[in-house]
Amino acid sequence: MNDPLASFAEALALGRLRVVDCSQPLSPATPVIRLPPEFAATPPVRVERLSEYDDAGPAWYWNVLHLGEHTGTHFDAPVHWVTGRELPAASTDTIDPARFIAPACVIDCSEDARRDEDFLLTPARVAAWEREHGPVPAGAWLLMRTDWSRRTDPDAFLNMRDDGAHTPGFSPDAVRLLVEERGVLGLGVETVGTDAGQAHAFDPPFPAHHILHGAGRFGLASLANLDRLPPTGAVLIAAPLKIVHGSGSPVRALAVVPA
Ligand code: MN
Repeated sequence: MNDPLASFAEALALGRLRVVDCSQPLSPATPVIRLPPEFAATPPVRVERLSEYDDAGPAWYWNVLHLGEHTGTHFDAPVHWVTGRELPAASTDTIDPARFIAPACVIDCSEDARRDEDFLLTPARVAAWEREHGPVPAGAWLLMRTDWSRRTDPDAFLNMRDDGAHTPGFSPDAVRLLVEERGVLGLGVETVGTDAGQAHAFDPPFPAHHILHGAGRFGLASLANLDRLPPTGAVLIAAPLKIVHGSGSPVRALAVVPA
């Protein structure tokens, strides 16, 4: 069969391709990022029942959701950061939708993050991965696997201390390398945000946000099941809601992988 879409559909139907759900459950228990008290806080998820086959709606069940754009497994658009505010086609409603489907490279940092909760992915670590798997191609997602998503206790997941969060992420040099030299589509992580917990003290502060969004690229946070993805060869589908001038949105991130 030469028609690539028909081949794709057949491969899915025959189980030669599998779909991995890279999303976390979304509920009032979903951990949300905690900022210093001088900044506006994003609220926890609230689910308001409209009806459940009752007097308010005898044959139907539905809810109203109250949630921040950056809640649970979610997409960061370039306008999320001040460095991306003037860019064209940089909010959830204006990004070219073709960019919501892209190949993914996965760097396994799970052992590193287990040993060091402040582990930073460096250019040397990217180079080591590339010696084994080839260069990170332009336009691909770079996903950092840490197995952090296995921390189901919200306090352990956010890992806050007096000096802020202690969670793994990227060194500023690694972000520059991946964005400016490799041309990645974006960076994806299993933690609550694309930057490391201590990234407020980096130069520049929050380099994943600063550099990534300033270059018109995207972020994905709170991903799950990255251990089920191959280092290369997966295709990631991650489309934010079409919120007008949205800075981000919860997504159902799906990876298509070889069986
Ligand atoms: Mn975010």
